[in-house]
Amino acid sequence: MDLLINSHHHGDHTAGNAVLGADADHILAHANVPILQRRSAEKNNSVEAQKFADVTFEETWEESVGDENIKLSYFGPGHTSGDAIIHFQEANVVHMGDLVFNHRPAYIDLAAGASTRNWISILERAYKEFTDDTVFIYGHGNPTHGILGTRDDLLASADYFTALRKAVSDGIRDGKTTDEIAAKGLEGFDSFKVNGSADGIAGNLKTVFEEVTQTVE
Ligand SMILES: [Zn+2]
Repeated sequence: MDLLINSHHHGDHTAGNAVLGADADHILAHANVPILQRRSAEKNNSVEAQKFADVTFEETWEESVGDENIKLSYFGPGHTSGDAIIHFQEANVVHMGDLVFNHRPAYIDLAAGASTRNWISILERAYKEFTDDTVFIYGHGNPTHGILGTRDDLLASADYFTALRKAVSDGIRDGKTTDEIAAKGLEGFDSFKVNGSADGIAGNLKTVFEEVTQTVE
C-alpha cells in the first residue's frame, strides 16, 4: 500500500497532494485537515486545485506498511488544530510537521485553532514519548539548525513558547500594549533570530498577545 501523509493542512504541506496523490492508494491526515484545507482553499479560490485526505483519524492511527509500523498521533491543538506526529517505529524516525520550527519563530495559526499553551504540552509529551536515539524531522529549520535533529530541539521550542507566554503575561500585568511587548522582545533566544533579526520574535509576541487576550484562560 502506498500512502501519502499530510502532517497538517497548510498549503506548503498539502499542495503536493494533487501530484503525489496520483501515486498513492490513500492520503492520510488528522480529521480536521480536510476541513481546514477546504476552508483555506475557499478563501483563496483554489478549491479546484486541492486534493483532500480520504483517510482520517482523531487521536491515533497505526498500521504496518511493508517493513514499517507507522503510528500517527494527535495531541490536541498546537500549530493548527490538525497536527499529526508521525512515527516510523522500525526506523525510529519521527516527523513533527510544523510542530517544530527549529530554532526560529513559528507560524501560530490562530484562525486554524492554534494554541501555544497546548503546543508546549505537545512538545513535552513528545519529548517523553521518544528517545535520544529518535531522529526528528521538522517542517522548518534555519541555516544553523536544520530540519533534522534530536528531541532536545523539542524542549528548545517548548522553552521558546513558554518565554513568549511569560513575556506577554508579564507585559499585560504591567499594563503594556502589544506593540510595547513586541518591541521589548525576548532575552536569551538569539538562536531564534532569522539573519540576526528579532522581527519574527516580535511578530510571535503579538500573536500570543492576541491569543491570550481573546481566549478564556
Ligand atoms: Zn504549517
